[in-house]
Amino acid sequence: MKINHLGIATKGIDEALRFWRDALGLENVHTEVVEDQKVRVAMLPLGESRIELLEPTSEDSPISKFLEKRGGGIHHIAVDVEDIEQALQKLKDRGMRLIDETPRIGAEGCLVAFVHPSSANGVLLELVQQIPSEKAM
Ligand code: ZN
Repeated sequence: MKINHLGIATKGIDEALRFWRDALGLENVHTEVVEDQKVRVAMLPLGESRIELLEPTSEDSPISKFLEKRGGGIHHIAVDVEDIEQALQKLKDRGMRLIDETPRIGAEGCLVAFVHPSSANGVLLELVQQIPSEKAM
């Protein structure tokens, strides 16, 4: 397994880029709005992994709530899985609490599903299955 990305919540991506891109030297290779999750994301590769900056696009975005409570910081960890349906089933069989029972479309057209923090030591875990045809574009 690999870490696909670390999701970091911020009030503003432009402001966050002053650290992650300008000061630290990472490159912002991709920015998009994920309507379904009411966030704008920026992806900055870091080794085999990436930093995903998350900015809320509306007041009822899950990121807005997180920012209110915690004022920013690491929001979730995302791991790559080969077969997301199978991974979800395995967790379900072991009685783990899932936020998404079925995968949905995340950033870059990947299939994603979130595992509830109560089953992962307080960490919000995102499973990511990359779509080969989409990645080749
Ligand atoms: Zn993510």
